[in-house]
Parts: sequence; structure tokens; C-alpha cells
Amino acid sequence: SNRTFTMVKPDAFGKGFTGGILDQIIQAGFRIVALKVTKLTKEKAGEFYAVHSERPFYDELTTFMSSGPIVAAILEKDNAVEDFRTLIGATNPAQAAEGTIRKKYAASVGENAVHGSDSDENAQIEGSFFFSAFEQF
Ligand code: ATP
Repeated sequence: SNRTFTMVKPDAFGKGFTGGILDQIIQAGFRIVALKVTKLTKEKAGEFYAVHSERPFYDELTTFMSSGPIVAAILEKDNAVEDFRTLIGATNPAQAAEGTIRKKYAASVGENAVHGSDSDENAQIEGSFFFSAFEQF
């Protein structure tokens, strides 16, 4: 597929990094096909991250992800999922490559500024979690 799904997480949104992050995404060749500001409830965050429900950081993750506004977006580009994960860098910003979004904007492995889908299948599922078909252009 040529689409992926991303979120600007509450840490980055709260620090005013949304514009810089979206600009870097657009300059890297991604087209925004859906975009909104929203806020997850703890329950909705738990649903989104259900795959991690047995992980020790699940409660920390869902508390953090429901702690403030986020930006959700669907992005289009050739090889979108893989290219976007390269653009954002490693989950832990200390290990993220120079110039990546997480290197520039993330504070820690928990508060790591952005989400990027890890497969075409999850990109589809996650995009549909936030957007109906007529909200995607
Ligand atoms: P994302 O799915 O957000 O793009 P990822 O695929 O790079 O991140 P995963 O291993 O799937 O990383 O973890 C999902 C999210 O859970 C991470 O982005 C991070 O916010 C959080 N997380 C992962 N490991 C930890 C940890 N050790 N402590 C706290 N939070 C963590």
C-alpha cells in the first residue's frame, strides 16, 4: 500500500512541535490525505494499543496517550510505511538517527513525539480508527 497512519503524540503537541513535525513530513514527500486534532480517552487509547495490553508499559502508554490533544493523520507516498518509519527514527530517541523526527523532538522512549504504523495492514486499521472513508482524500 502507499498509505500510512501517524499521530503527533501529546508531548510534542503540548510543546508546540506540531507545525515543525508536519512540515518535515510534507518536505519528505508525504501527502496528507486526512488530518485532525483530537484527544483520546484512556479507554480509546487502550483500544488503539490493545496489541500492547500485556506489556509492562501498557498503563503508562495509555495514560500518556490520553493526557492531552494529539494530531492524527493519514499520509500517502510510495513505500509509505517503511519510508515513514525511517523518517521518524528509532522508538527510543537516544537511538534515533540524526535528523529524524524523534531525534529532534522526542524526550524519551515513552514520550517519543510521533507514532508510525508498522505494517500496511495496521496502517489501514489505525487510519480507520480515526477517519471515515469520506474524510480521506
Ligand atoms: P509506535 O507504535 O508509537 O510508532 P514503535 O512501533 O516504534 O512506536 P512499539 O514497540 O510498538 O514502538 O511501542 C509502541 C509505543 O509504546 C512506543 O512508541 C512508546 O510510546 C511506547 N513504549 C514502548 N516501549 C516503552 C517503554 N519501555 N516504556 C514506555 N513506553 C514504551
